[in-house]
Amino acid sequence: MGLGLAKPGRNRPIGRVIDRFLASRAARTAVLTGAALGLAGCAGAPRPTADHTPRVLCVVAHPDDETGFAGTLYKIATHLGGACDILVITNGEAGYKYSTLAEVVYGRRLTDPDTGRSELPAIRQAEMREAARMLRVRDVVFLSELDHRYTQDPGEVLGEGAKVWDLARVRAAIAQQLDHGDYDFVFVHLPVPTTHGHHKAASILALQAVAAMPRERRPVALGSFGMTKDGDPPTHPYLLDGYPITRSRDDVRCWTFDRTQKFGFENKLDYRIVTSWAVAAHKSQGTYQNLMGRGELEAFRMFAIDAVDAIPRTDALFRRLAEPQFEALRYDAAGRLLR
Ligand SMILES: [Zn+2]
Repeated sequence: MGLGLAKPGRNRPIGRVIDRFLASRAARTAVLTGAALGLAGCAGAPRPTADHTPRVLCVVAHPDDETGFAGTLYKIATHLGGACDILVITNGEAGYKYSTLAEVVYGRRLTDPDTGRSELPAIRQAEMREAARMLRVRDVVFLSELDHRYTQDPGEVLGEGAKVWDLARVRAAIAQQLDHGDYDFVFVHLPVPTTHGHHKAASILALQAVAAMPRERRPVALGSFGMTKDGDPPTHPYLLDGYPITRSRDDVRCWTFDRTQKFGFENKLDYRIVTSWAVAAHKSQGTYQNLMGRGELEAFRMFAIDAVDAIPRTDALFRRLAEPQFEALRYDAAGRLLR
């Protein structure tokens, strides 16, 4: 299937729209515009529930956060012909402490705080672009807000008087992206207590932006978390204390994408491989690679923000993501492909 192709007649040049929006903020913002493919408009039109090419926006805090749902993105793009975009709020420069192995790769003393904070934004953006290329992501939008430090408290960036991020600008950028992207789904991290406060904040800001849209134009908001097949999901329904916008629907549990779906010659391949490609792109982050190959399921909770046909739309997406993607390969004794 083709990549990122919206249906004919439904296209609008989002790349140009984003460029125009960001032009006045060029000093702090960089945009990767992929194939400059169009997206659908039609405000107020009923949404299809199945069998069209899905459009997905991921809102995350750092380059590498997309790896939590890498298999899902890859298969949406390559099996369903969908369009996946990622909006990244910071450049992840606070990760300098984990850059030891990347110092040889980049020829910089990245673990030095001053060097790391000045050099990592460009490096991590380049790594993010490479991961996006592996996952066939269409566009990456970088907002280049400050990655100030590790914290589990989203209040450090969202609280009253917080000045770490330019919140008005971030909110406007997310709203603009949602408005012009006409997305079917928004993926964020489920803001579980143990996750980074920036992850929680990115999710909260995205959910607030979705909730502010007219109901008939809202994408379905899904919160991702990793799981093993015998693991326990987070509490159900989910709610992060102090942030009612994070409440998940109580009438559905979760949808899962199985990274271990087998395919290829002798069924030796699965989607953990493309996830590992994306993880490997983020070379300046030396600890995440320790998790390579772990996590069999990419799981998603649905937030309680109402959207048209939210459950059938999501059912249709994950039903299609469970389809076999690749035809079985067979070879004769001489190694020739049998048709
Ligand atoms: Zn992160």
